Amino acid sequence: MLIGPQISAIDPRGILDRITRAARGAGRDPAEITLIAVGKTQPAERLRAAAAAGITDFGENYPQEAAAKIDQLSDLPLRWHFIGRLQSNKTRLVANRFDWVHSVDRVEIARRLSDQRSPHRPALELCLQVAIVPEPGKGGLEPDALAEAAAAIAALPRLRLRGLMCLPPFERDPTRQRAAFARLRQLRDELNARGFALDALSMGMSGDFEAAIAEGATHVRIGTALFGERR
Ligand SMILES: *Cc1c(COP(=O)(O)O)cnc(C)c1O
Repeated sequence: MLIGPQISAIDPRGILDRITRAARGAGRDPAEITLIAVGKTQPAERLRAAAAAGITDFGENYPQEAAAKIDQLSDLPLRWHFIGRLQSNKTRLVANRFDWVHSVDRVEIARRLSDQRSPHRPALELCLQVAIVPEPGKGGLEPDALAEAAAAIAALPRLRLRGLMCLPPFERDPTRQRAAFARLRQLRDELNARGFALDALSMGMSGDFEAAIAEGATHVRIGTALFGERR
């Protein structure tokens, strides 16, 4: 595949090896874990280089920026994951350009996504973002509000509620990283004990994905460790 001369190749092998080792170390099948390459601020040609190296799943935070890149890469069979803060005036774009939305934290947003999802596309895959540790500006449902929101959202026709997502505060210590991810897994298990069938745990970024995998992550969202520092 032709990549512009100024675009350096992406080599995901180091990350994939680490995912495999973390999965095996936890007695898990590495095939259960999807690597989502987080491309915010990266130009479309960088994502094309990642796709050429075998990446199939891409995460984006900003609807407009993402829509432009999705158009530029429409010749490739990619899956697009929306992982950013979602305002109600952007739900139509997100409902129709993405395959997954990981960052839903209000029933009202989910209702708009369901109403606006094209009938010609499969149901939108959805995760609820949980504020394991509440932090201003990060969003996420309080754990106490989760069961009620999940029940309302699971009933919406054009969505498929798949699981939970979290964005814990930066933490260097692997034991403390794991404690946050264990909490999300526990919340998922509690919902399943109440009759939900949630299989996805979207957790782990460049600095903590091994801890997330040890606690059951099914989707790790990795930006800087793949693409380098964002500008
Ligand atoms: C930016 C971002 C990531 C990726 O972060 P890195 O530390 O660069 O791997 C993952 N998840 C969300 C929600 C993000 O906004």
